[in-house]
Amino acid sequence: MTMKPIHVIGGGLAGSEAAWQAAEAGVPVILHEMRPMRGTEAHKTDGLAELVCSNSFRSDDAETNAVGLLHAELRLAGSLIMRSGDAHQVPAGSALAVDRDGFSADVTERIEAHPLITIERGEVAGLPPEDWDLAIIATGPLTAPSLAEAIRSATGADALAFFDAIAPIIHFDTIDMDTCWFQSRYDKVGPGGTGKDYINCPMDKDRYEAFVQALLDGQKTEFKEWEGTPYFDGCLPIEVMAERGPETLRHGPMKPMGLTNAHDPSVKPYAVVQLRQDNALGTLYNMVGFQTKLRHGEQTRIFRMIPGLENAEFARLGGLHRNTYINSPTLLDGTLQLKRRAGLRFAGQITGCEGYVESAAIGLLAGRFAAADRLGRPLAPPPATTAFGALLNHITGGHIVSDDEPGKRSFQPMNVNFGLFPPAATPKPEGKRLRGKEKTLAKKKAITARAISDCRAWLGLDTTAEAAE
Ligand SMILES: Cc1cc2nc3c(=O)[nH]c(=O)nc-3n(C[C@H](O)[C@H](O)[C@H](O)COP(=O)(O)OP(=O)(O)OC[C@H]3O[C@@H](n4cnc5c(N)ncnc54)[C@H](O)[C@@H]3O)c2cc1C
Repeated sequence: MTMKPIHVIGGGLAGSEAAWQAAEAGVPVILHEMRPMRGTEAHKTDGLAELVCSNSFRSDDAETNAVGLLHAELRLAGSLIMRSGDAHQVPAGSALAVDRDGFSADVTERIEAHPLITIERGEVAGLPPEDWDLAIIATGPLTAPSLAEAIRSATGADALAFFDAIAPIIHFDTIDMDTCWFQSRYDKVGPGGTGKDYINCPMDKDRYEAFVQALLDGQKTEFKEWEGTPYFDGCLPIEVMAERGPETLRHGPMKPMGLTNAHDPSVKPYAVVQLRQDNALGTLYNMVGFQTKLRHGEQTRIFRMIPGLENAEFARLGGLHRNTYINSPTLLDGTLQLKRRAGLRFAGQITGCEGYVESAAIGLLAGRFAAADRLGRPLAPPPATTAFGALLNHITGGHIVSDDEPGKRSFQPMNVNFGLFPPAATPKPEGKRLRGKEKTLAKKKAITARAISDCRAWLGLDTTAEAAE
């Protein structure tokens, strides 16, 4: 009896990788791609895995960079996207950049040539029919409208964000806690809180006025044509609020009410920037209400004017662009499967990861999970200590639900970064105390060494030191 195929919808970074992984596991796949019959606002060709903007897979440094580590794990897992990327590399320093046409042509040719993959060109205009018992939706940030609408009605009206207003996220260990303090407004405990849930950064009048002026003067990114989605008052960019008047921010996200500076209780702050815990590990904090379309360089410059954030390192900067993604932590189980419909998985940017490499990685996992189901050999999710696991945990559950802002989404798309990993014990060289940059580097190396070893074990590869060399 021939094996029933897995249907993969969308031949982008995630769908191509998912199809490849399932087929390499011995399961037939039908890959549905709507281009060239129907295009998107950003794709220009009919090639699979088209890179819609930059040609960079970012850092290829697997020892001290989180996306570099993800590259390494993808290579260990036999990723098609990395294989074609490596084959079409162009010089880019420590980054992996690719010839976009050569890369896409290579992915397309290899998929076309795979004996277990059939490509069907055409739009899938609604949810996969029930007789597609195993299917993966990997239709990306620009999912065609009728499928997007079908997903929206199947998952709930607020479960599909079409518009992405994101605020910057900061690494906790770069916040100066001698200036900032933990406190919830009016010390409110709330359900599941402690009364000390926010980090507060105080500003006096002069600093506030200089900050508002910097926001007004800062260079903004322009909206592209395809980004014509209107924004609503609930997520106005911070610089648009500043344009409405000098006091607007002080009565909005920067209001100082109900907060007492623990380091200087007698002086009332004129304005306060609040940071909220962003992941369960407590290693990342987001800037509450600071969605912005300032240019990235301007964001780092201007936000470092905030007392306590002078040395802040950003895990992600803010931005506004069209993005279709589901509220994965509530909708998906730990193997990317829709809780309401067994066998239907999501992969790629539509799950709430961000970036080419991350999308491919989630495609790889979805393809492997689906193939394991078909073969009747359930597959445990990758350990949280690997880049695969860290990213998967962010998508399926690592975020913090915000109880104090009913109706707002707390789950936001993110690139892979070290803040998503559980801390690792840093080896202490004898007779030497590591400080500053050296210490940060040692911490990163400890995380990446542990990740590679755990990833090899998860993949069933040899984990001896020689094999890992
Ligand atoms: C304008 C723009 C610029 C970006 N720039 C960058 C960047 O510089 N660097 C970066 O890392 N990331 C960038 N991204 C994010 C980027 O889109 C993702 O990183 C990556 O492409 C997502 O991979 P994916 O497989 O999830 O989606 P995609 O690569 O977009 O693939 C989805 C595929 O599904 C197809 N499809 C959609 N709907 C249907 C349907 N109903 N039926 C059949 N097929 C369908 C599409 O044609 C497409 O081929 C950008 C995104 C946008 C929108």
